[in-house]
Amino acid sequence: MKTQVLRIGRKPDNDIVIDDLSVSHYHAVATLGNENTAELEDNDSSNGTYVDGMRVRKTLITGESSITLGKVALDPRKIFRFNKKPDDFSAEFQELRPVWDTLETERISILQSQKKIDVLLAIPYIGRIIMLWAANHYNLEGRRVKLKEDMRRMWVCPSCKQPLRDYEWLTWNDAEHLRRCPKCKARWF
Ligand SMILES: [Zn+2]
Repeated sequence: MKTQVLRIGRKPDNDIVIDDLSVSHYHAVATLGNENTAELEDNDSSNGTYVDGMRVRKTLITGESSITLGKVALDPRKIFRFNKKPDDFSAEFQELRPVWDTLETERISILQSQKKIDVLLAIPYIGRIIMLWAANHYNLEGRRVKLKEDMRRMWVCPSCKQPLRDYEWLTWNDAEHLRRCPKCKARWF
């Protein structure tokens, strides 16, 4: 395996960019090892590189190390992700979790509003009128359209960018069950 050297710092041409004033332009360098280890070397940064609370010049790190550059914590997975196999998109897929949670919360909220409106229909004579008013009030149609657009835009395979659906939208659990993208075969879990 060839050694991979990653530059970390504030300038946009680093491999890992940290946009924070406490981080130097070219703050540190990480050299990936064969196992789940890397050598992290401070590059004469102004505010220092800390591993597990100690200021370091050069040290070995693992996926469990706690790393701070200047005032910013750096998740070691951001370094080790460069060590992955080309079809491994599991880290990127994990980053979709909050996206999924937000979309799912909205989907459930729309369903609950719909249920409240359905109850109104049972009121004799004026039920349908109240129902139409309520549907308008909750802006259900608008929210449904927006949810669908958001799903199409954000709930996508991190590798091939295809929306995550076959007939229906895939849920998080569906994706976990599939483990790989059915279209590009990238590994999600
Ligand atoms: Zn894909």
